[in-house]
Amino acid sequence: MNLHEYQAKQVLASYGVPVPKGIVANSGAEAEAAAQSLGGSVWVVKAQVHAGGRGKAGGVKLARDGAAVRAAAEGMLGQRLVTKQTGAGGLPIEKVYVETGSAIAREIYLSLTLNRERGRIAVVASTEGGMDIETVAEETPEKILSVLVHPATGLQSYQCRQLGFALGLNDAQRKQFESIVRALYQLYMDKDASLIEINPLIVTGEGNLVALDCKLDIEANAMFRQKDMAAYRDRGQEDPAELRASDNDLNYVSLDGNIACMVNGAGLAMATMDVIKLHGGQPANFLDVGGGVTVERGIAAFDLILSNPSVKAILVNVFGGIVRCDTVAQAVITAFQKVGVKVPVVVRLEGTNAEQARKMLKDSGLALIPAEGLTDAAKKVVAAASAK
Ligand code: GDP
Ligand code: MN
Repeated sequence: MNLHEYQAKQVLASYGVPVPKGIVANSGAEAEAAAQSLGGSVWVVKAQVHAGGRGKAGGVKLARDGAAVRAAAEGMLGQRLVTKQTGAGGLPIEKVYVETGSAIAREIYLSLTLNRERGRIAVVASTEGGMDIETVAEETPEKILSVLVHPATGLQSYQCRQLGFALGLNDAQRKQFESIVRALYQLYMDKDASLIEINPLIVTGEGNLVALDCKLDIEANAMFRQKDMAAYRDRGQEDPAELRASDNDLNYVSLDGNIACMVNGAGLAMATMDVIKLHGGQPANFLDVGGGVTVERGIAAFDLILSNPSVKAILVNVFGGIVRCDTVAQAVITAFQKVGVKVPVVVRLEGTNAEQARKMLKDSGLALIPAEGLTDAAKKVVAAASAK
């Protein structure tokens, strides 16, 4: 789960990490009032969306008087911001964050994330902050430094010093750097974070370190025990189809193709997408309906995949282990009748009660295309999607 920048900065501040003073605003008038109450003579107006790359997309604006703050806020609010990270549709700007402007001497990159291969939290830093770190990683990988934290010993001072020296920080800045990294590590552990990214961590005109931006992601599977983080959820920033899926306990990811998939089990769903691609098709989604599929969830799944207007054909691929094929067959039949499925549906069912399920589908008189095995199913669904 992603937090907005202004929320992430509240969390950072509560851990003692220096952040600029700021106030969130919902209108131009609120933004102007925010600037007035912050004081000073330069402000930054920042679009609050769950994506980076805002600066280059017009979502971060410097303003030198109240009227300019208001104008910048009014230009953003109610619009959708399209950045490198959002996809073509962009994300709605419902709030802006007005901050006291900072003088920047240097921009540093700092992040904490899980290195899955090593099973340890990595602290990653670079002198090349502010710009897009993916480009730095591609073109000048030697400029990306990282240390791995051993879970038993926790973060060590020498690791912070190692990064601090490599970043070219002076004595006072290295001390600040260590206390920031320690605070972020503690936050990461306490809140079940999956990513904390400060880009840029700046050296101000006075030579102090300040977190100018922050991306904070909390592990979705930990939400049940992170109630204070869950309260930060902004459903308005989430993909509508993925939102419906999470409300129905379905594991769904929108993709660009035209063949919808409904599969039980994440591994089988991945294999199904691979086999569709192998036969020249493009999946419209990843959908794992899970082991405990009921008729209601099956219907919700159909509803969901049909809400994507690109879908030209559907492949139902179920291996009945815990889930019984007759339950899936019933869901398919009911969904067909209720939802009104207008695209071809290829069905491959194997395992528990498969025979019974096949008979139910046949007796229903519905225009379903039965398949024997995954290859046959993929060939049939690719043909169905490209027909006409
Ligand atoms: P992002 O583009 O979504 O990552 O948004 P950031 O919060 O990182 O802002 C983008 C860039 O705007 C930063 O890298 C800075 O160069 C610039 N910027 C943001 N806040 C300030 C500020 O207070 N003062 C100055 N001078 N530049 C700022
Ligand atoms: Mn940034």
